[in-house]
Amino acid sequence: MERAVPERHHLLYDKVVWGSQEYGRKLRTCYWLIPLLHPTIHQTIHESLASVPLPDRYAQLNIWMGFEPVENDYLGSIDNLLFSIEAANKHPRTSRLDKQLTYLAMCAIELQKPLVKEGLIKVV
Ligand SMILES: [Zn+2]
Repeated sequence: MERAVPERHHLLYDKVVWGSQEYGRKLRTCYWLIPLLHPTIHQTIHESLASVPLPDRYAQLNIWMGFEPVENDYLGSIDNLLFSIEAANKHPRTSRLDKQLTYLAMCAIELQKPLVKEGLIKVV
């Protein structure tokens, strides 16, 4: 059987939206949020979900400030990102609309988690 070429997947996509603002871009380009995946699983993720909703700048900043990636652990980093988004969601200054956006962002990440787990290719 032919060996599939692994592909890098940015958990926070798409690039145009997440790359358009400073803290969105910082989160998107965090190494431990860009797992190396089997191409079939990578394709499945993109077919299942058009993009991850981008919270507003204030929430992005809060998420960035509260986020600690776990070195050598993509899934642990994803969990920490979810904790950080949840904290931003509960922040008293987060608007009602942004609570919905951060909630949707969490849903979009939760949706990807089992696929990332299944398709993850470890580099040794
Ligand atoms: Zn991708």
